[in-house]
Amino acid sequence: MGVLDGKVSFVTGGSRGIGRAICLALAEAGSDVALNYSTSREAAEEVAALIHKMGRKALIYQANVSNPDEDDTMVAQIVKDFGLVHIVVNNAGITRDKSFVKMDRPMWHEVLNVNLTGPAMIIHRLIKPMMEHGWGRIINITSIVGQMGNFGQANYAAAKGGLMALTKTLAREFAKKGVTVNAVAPGFIDTDMTADVPSASLDIVRQMTPMGRLGKPEEVAATVAFLASPQASFITGEIIGVNGGMYM
Ligand code: NAP
Repeated sequence: MGVLDGKVSFVTGGSRGIGRAICLALAEAGSDVALNYSTSREAAEEVAALIHKMGRKALIYQANVSNPDEDDTMVAQIVKDFGLVHIVVNNAGITRDKSFVKMDRPMWHEVLNVNLTGPAMIIHRLIKPMMEHGWGRIINITSIVGQMGNFGQANYAAAKGGLMALTKTLAREFAKKGVTVNAVAPGFIDTDMTADVPSASLDIVRQMTPMGRLGKPEEVAATVAFLASPQASFITGEIIGVNGGMYM
């Protein structure tokens, strides 16, 4: 028996990295999982297969979370396949880095659309039935960069900072309906996203991190699974850092 037996989770960007680990952690805790991906179909199928092996239901859904039509189709299909969604994890995210002076409008809008507008609109589509049911969990994956800022990431920092503000506002709006809204703010985690960061920069990150290392996707996923659990019932509007002490 898991603490999330009978629950349905929807995770965006579940095909790789942190999202993959979140899907597996939620399934491990007993949840069925609707898993969104954008381009990595094979990787998404692999995650779903691992969840099936745990005896849980898992289905994959292709959609670019910043595209309203694709979101509509995806959410309608998820509700058809699973019924009520109890747990929403907005994990999908991208970077398009450049110093602010060189950053053009498309780079700005693409990151804001995927990392902030996408999550907001996904919550908007799913929140009413969750509130009517009287229980729900919304967990947004933000970033230490939204807390500290970071050279070359004005678009990403603004989106993640906005996601934290959205988290706190929705926590206030949904609290009386039994729906908690929290955010997890990872530090630098070993995934494809950080694989592009020059090794000299990662050395600086390690030096700035009291634990002296990058985090693992599973360490973020464990925090998400806790926030999704009944044990986290009195936590809402919180931003939980998973960053090895880099920001406190
Ligand atoms: P990643 O390894 O690059 O994986 C990104 C995931 O998001 C993939 O599953 C990808 O799907 C999906 N995705 C990207 N754009 C999408 C879109 N438009 N629509 C739907 N799915 C999309 O990234 P990660 O490191 O796991 O990061 C996951 C989250 O954690 C992001 O929100 C990121 O900002 C945040 N974060 C990461 C770190 C870090 O150090 N890694 C630190 C702080 C916060 P496909 O595979 O199908 O393309």
